[in-house]
This record gives sequence, C-alpha cells and structure tokens, in this order.
Amino acid sequence: MVQPLEITIERSVNKKEKPPEDQLGFGTYFTDHMFIMDYAIEKGWHQPRIVPYQPILLDPAAKVFHYGQTIFEGLKAYLTDDGRTLLFRPQKNLQRLNRSNERLSIPEIDEALVLDALKQLIAVDQDWIPTEAGTSLYIRPFVFATQPALGVSPSTHYQFMIIMSPVGAYYPEGVNPVKIFVESEYVRTVIGGVGEAKTAGNYAAGLKAQEIAKEQGYSQVLWLDGIHRKYIEEVGSMNVFFKIKGTVYTPSLNGSILDGITRNSIIHLLKHWNIPVVEQILSIEELYEAGKAGFLEEAFGTGTAAVISPIGELSWCDEKLVINQGQTGDLSQRLYDTLSGIQRGTISDPFDWMLEVEGSAPVAVSSKNSNL
Ligand SMILES: *Cc1c(COP(=O)(O)O)cnc(C)c1O
Repeated sequence: MVQPLEITIERSVNKKEKPPEDQLGFGTYFTDHMFIMDYAIEKGWHQPRIVPYQPILLDPAAKVFHYGQTIFEGLKAYLTDDGRTLLFRPQKNLQRLNRSNERLSIPEIDEALVLDALKQLIAVDQDWIPTEAGTSLYIRPFVFATQPALGVSPSTHYQFMIIMSPVGAYYPEGVNPVKIFVESEYVRTVIGGVGEAKTAGNYAAGLKAQEIAKEQGYSQVLWLDGIHRKYIEEVGSMNVFFKIKGTVYTPSLNGSILDGITRNSIIHLLKHWNIPVVEQILSIEELYEAGKAGFLEEAFGTGTAAVISPIGELSWCDEKLVINQGQTGDLSQRLYDTLSGIQRGTISDPFDWMLEVEGSAPVAVSSKNSNL
C-alpha cells in the first residue's frame, strides 16, 4: 500500500499586518501562508507543504505561459457567530478541480489529501478569517504547468497551490440588481471547447466583451451559445436562472456551461421548497417574448462570490427589457437569505452541506461581536 503523503508546515516568522475589514474588497490581500505540492512525471504528486506566502520562481519557458495549461477553483470559509469555521461543500470543488484537470490533460490530484491540506492551511491562518457581517475567507486552489519546454504537449511537471484572501461583504448595502448586456458578437466558449472546465483561457476570452459592456454602463455580459448566438449560457462568470410564470428555468449543462456548485445548491433548494425548476435549453427570443408578455418575473445569476446576483435589466440588440421593475424579486431574496444563512451557520443545514474545520482555535465570541 502507498503511504499517505505527509504535509509539512513551515510557519511564517514575520506576519503581515491585517487590512481593515471595511476595506477588504475582493482578492487584494493574502494570508500569511500558502499550500504547494509538486508533480513530476516520474514521481507523481509529491512534497505537499504549507509555507509562508511568497512569490514563486518559474522558468520563462514554463508551459503555462505559452499554452495555458492551468485550472483553478474558488470557494469560501465562513466564521460563525459562535466561532466555528465552516466550508461550503468543499468536496464538490475538489471533484470539479479533477474534472477540469482531466479536460486540460493535467494529472489527477488526491482529493482527500487536498481537503486535509486545506483544513490545515485554514487552521494555520485562522486569524485571517474576517469577522464582520458578510465577510469571508476566499480560497483559491490552482494548478499550472511548469515544464520548461516550448513543444505543444501536456507538461511533465506541475505545481498545485492554494492561496487565501479575506474578502469584504459582496452586498454591503443589501442585495442589489444589476444591468446586463446580452452579447451577440463575442462568445465565451463553444460545445467541445473548455467551457465546462474552470480554466484561465475562458476568462481571458471574455475580457473584451466585458470591457465593452462596462463602457456602455452594464456590469456584466450574458453569454449566448457559440454556434447560433441564440441560446442562453451564463452571465459573466455566474450561472443564470429565470422565473417565468412561477417556474424557474436554467440552461442545462450542455458541455459549454460551467457546473456551478451554487447552481446545483439553488436547484436543490427550489426542489426542497416544491417550486418547479427546469434545466433546459432556453433561447434569448423566448426569454424576451416572456418578458414582453409580462411573464418573466425574476432573473438572477449564481456563484460563490455573490451567491445570488439579481438581474434588473437586459439589453439585447438595442432592445431593453426591465425585469421586476429593476427590483430584487422575492424568490431571489429568499434564495439569497437561505443559502447565505446556511453558509454562515445562522440557519439549519438540511442537506448537510457545511463542513466544519476542526482544530482551529475558536475565536472569542466577545471580541467577534464587539463591533456589532
Ligand atoms: C466559477 C464559475 C461559476 C460559478 O460556480 P460556483 O461553483 O457556483 O462558484 C459559473 N460560471 C463560471 C464560468 C465560473 O467560472
């Protein structure tokens, strides 16, 4: 039997100053430690270690720079009012990490080992989990090809890393609807491509359209399918849902849509509440027809960062469609309150989604609540 790999820990000697919790933003500050593990074709994954957060040295010929062989994940740790640290369905992120690896010809990682490493990393940087309402610790696992060689073939060497960033409340002033530009020129991906993998190229491909939409006053783009520019896929880097005449629709996972863990959880919740929910192909024409007939009741994006992002207005080929008078719908609000309540441990967790990180020193409740 293969011996399990031992995770070593090297603690930081000069800890960074923590940023003020009301100025965290998203992904700008990083904790004192990170996790690294190496892969070499002759050794497999080896030397899993927690080390002080630091820059990495890479050969300029490392394959990741030239051919984009890299994938990532995103999840959050939450501190509860009674000082426990909770992760939301982390096993799902690790399964998806391996599905992305598989699509990008990157060797599979040991999910149990990485979950253990993640728990240890969080325990080491426990004091970085912010305490203010709505804040959390964003966790970014990623893998990239390091072999220094310019031939186009899967790399023989990789690194896997986890870095963590304290992030501010997504909605400091309450859930807020956004205006969305329906993109009918650029596409994010196409069936057969890498749209269902969380890989860098998909985001690089979307920047141009996002920039143009921003210039015109829209906060994100709604992506249509790459062949017909007709079927709805995703909104920005979120999955998308529409409530039409009491039924909730979301595009089915067709091979170019990312299988969001928030999406999956929303579908579970809706079924649990006996609200009809349908995964099916959905065209932008049908959506506009429903909207003009007054049947489109709510629309929202779903993802780890925002949980729910209500859509107040769409613009497609210069035609605007206002949804629910530009206000957050009741169902959108209920889904947001329920899912974020489960994640923060303020309401019960009927599906056993939350995983507690053991061994982390509980934060004194008095100091946590001192600013409330
Ligand atoms: C990460 C991501 C999502 C949302 O996935 P969650 O697991 O819910 O955070 C949706 N679409 C794209 C393109 C993504 O990268």
